[in-house]
Amino acid sequence: EVRLENVTKRFGRVVAVDNVTLEFPDGRFSALLGPSGSGKSTLLYLIAGIYKPTSGRIFFGDREVTNLPPKDRNVGLVFQNYALYPHMKVYDNIAFPMRLRKLPESKIDAKVQEVARLLRIEELLDRYPGQLSGGQQQRVALARALVKEPDVLLLDEPLSNLDALLRLTIRAELKKLQRRLEITAIHVTHDQAEAMSIADVIVVIDRGRVQQVGSPDDVYNRPRNLFVAGFIGSPP
Ligand code: ATP
Ligand code: MG
Repeated sequence: EVRLENVTKRFGRVVAVDNVTLEFPDGRFSALLGPSGSGKSTLLYLIAGIYKPTSGRIFFGDREVTNLPPKDRNVGLVFQNYALYPHMKVYDNIAFPMRLRKLPESKIDAKVQEVARLLRIEELLDRYPGQLSGGQQQRVALARALVKEPDVLLLDEPLSNLDALLRLTIRAELKKLQRRLEITAIHVTHDQAEAMSIADVIVVIDRGRVQQVGSPDDVYNRPRNLFVAGFIGSPP
């Protein structure tokens, strides 16, 4: 699992993440849900190793990763602006993380074909990112994150650039894939309905603090405080 112990992140006077202690269970889909500016992305970047905590510790299972750079953490990242490399074909975009690790080309090829099949983008491998729709680019970004067989998949509003219908479709596919491969996923969103429909565990945060951790049913029907009740929008 991914575990945070008393993690705080300050930017100057701003406390973006405020003494958070939290566990994301293995093989489950967790959603980090909170309003804009509540510290969701910061929390994700701390887990990825892009930011270092001001104080506190982060563990992947028994391994402390607090001071490890992103490349030593085996995380898959998919962000809102899923920056694919525009000058590389889809195939090479997906192969890129494995080439960095200097895997043999035969192994790389097998893996690219496997994830392309999973995400149904086999037909697109020869194209450039500029020749793809938003949803197709999103699938390629997911494929590129998955080929590393990451210990944890970190998703920062990955669907927010898509139209409503495509968002629903890819959301459902993502959930299926996560179940099938038993991926440990942490998905950042400020969309309550999205979190409710996709997550096993919902973490509600506000102003850098965890307000509640629970199943969708828990946070909806048994909100722990007024903030959660108001934000999730359950009837009084
Ligand atoms: P959104 O839903 O709008 O993406 P968020 O929940 O992801 O919001 P964060 O990006 O984590 O919020 O920001 C949390 C707080 O930390 C905000 O007050 C933000 O202004 C501040 N912050 C985030 N990154 C930095 C940075 N690099 N430098 C200074 N302040 C930052
Ligand atoms: Mg954010």
